Amino acid sequence: MGHVKLHIPGPVEVSEKTFRAFCSPMIGHRGQGFKDLLAKIQPQLQALLSTKQLVYLSTSSAWGVMEGAIRNLVSRKVLNCMCGAFSDKWFDVSKRCGKAAEALQVPWGSPVRAEQVDARLAAGQFDALTLIHNETSTGVMSPLAEIAALKRKYADVMFIVDAVSSLSAAKIEFDTLGIDVLLAGTQKALALPPGMALFTCSPAALGKAATMKDRGYYFDFVEFQKNAEQNMTPSTPSIGHVYALASKLEEIFSEGLETRYARHAKLAQRTRDWAARHGFTLFPEKGFESVTLTCVNNGAKPDGRVIDVAKFQKMVKDEGFLIDGGYGKIKGGTFRISNMGDETEATMSQLYVALDAAMKQL
Ligand SMILES: *Cc1c(COP(=O)(O)O)cnc(C)c1O
Repeated sequence: MGHVKLHIPGPVEVSEKTFRAFCSPMIGHRGQGFKDLLAKIQPQLQALLSTKQLVYLSTSSAWGVMEGAIRNLVSRKVLNCMCGAFSDKWFDVSKRCGKAAEALQVPWGSPVRAEQVDARLAAGQFDALTLIHNETSTGVMSPLAEIAALKRKYADVMFIVDAVSSLSAAKIEFDTLGIDVLLAGTQKALALPPGMALFTCSPAALGKAATMKDRGYYFDFVEFQKNAEQNMTPSTPSIGHVYALASKLEEIFSEGLETRYARHAKLAQRTRDWAARHGFTLFPEKGFESVTLTCVNNGAKPDGRVIDVAKFQKMVKDEGFLIDGGYGKIKGGTFRISNMGDETEATMSQLYVALDAAMKQL
C-alpha cells in the first residue's frame, strides 16, 4: 500500500518541497554557512512570533522546552491551566521536576477562561503560569488575548504559552500580549518533520532564568540566548530541520500571515460543516473551536450520531487518509481531523470525499 496521507493532528503531512529541503547536504554547525542560515531565518521567525526577542531552535520535541520552561522559571509555585491531555500532563511534568504546582482544571471540551486564571493568580504565591493555546486533544482554543490582558496585573508571574498546534495558523503577538515564553514543535501547525521545537523568551524570563539554580544545560534558556546572539545553537542541532524551516518560512511569508490564518479558519469551518451534515455535534464548547483541527463528538450528546470510530478510521485509511480516533479518555467517544499545515480547499475536499464514502459504508 502506498503512503497514507496524514490528517491526524500531528505529525501532519510533510510536502515534497519540505522534504527536499530537509535532505539538503550537511554543513558544520559552527561554520559561517550555518550562521548565515540562522541569520537569514531569524527575522522571519521574529515576524512569525511578533517579537523583537531572538527566537531559539531546540533539537527536541515540544516537551523538551515545556519541561525546560518549568526548570528555568518556577521557583515558588506554578499554576498549570488544564483542559485536555497535553495541558493536564504539564501539571504532572511540573511535579516531576520537583516544583510546587497547582492545577486549574476545567472539564475537557471547555476552554480556560481569563476570569478563572485571574481568580487563582489573585490568591497569590505563584511565579509562573502555563497555558496551552490550542489544546490538541480536545480541539479547544482558549482565549489567549483575554487571559494575557488579565495576567498583566501579575508582573512577577512568568506566562508560559504552548502554541504547538496553533503557531502560524492563528495570530499570536508575543511582545504585545506580554507572554514570557512561547513555544511550538515543528510537526503540527508548521508541517515539518517531528524533532525540533522553537521558542522565545521575554527579557524578564531570561533575567529570572539566570537566577535559577540547577536549570541544567541542554534546556538552559540563558545558553539559548547567548548562542542565538551568535546565530548558533547550544549543541549540535538537527540541521535538516533548519533547512526545512527556512523553506517553510519562505512559503509562509509568500502566502502572507493573514492569508494563512484565514485559510486555516476557513478549512476548519468546512470540517465543522462536514460534521454537521452527517449529524455530528462538536466536542468543544461553542465559540472555542480550534482553527487547526476539528474534534467531533461521537454521540456524546442526545442528538449526536454514534458510529464505530475504529471501523470508520479503518475505512478512511483504506481510502488513503489517516484520521485520529480520539485521544486518551475520549478515544472512540470523539474523532479528530486536522487541517494544519499545507492543506487547501482542494486537498480538504479530497478528504471529505473519502470521509463521505466511509460514512456510507458504516
Ligand atoms: C503534540 C503536542 C505537544 C507535545 O509535543 P511533542 O512533540 O510530543 O513533544 C504539546 N502540546 C500540544 C498542544 C501538542 O499538540
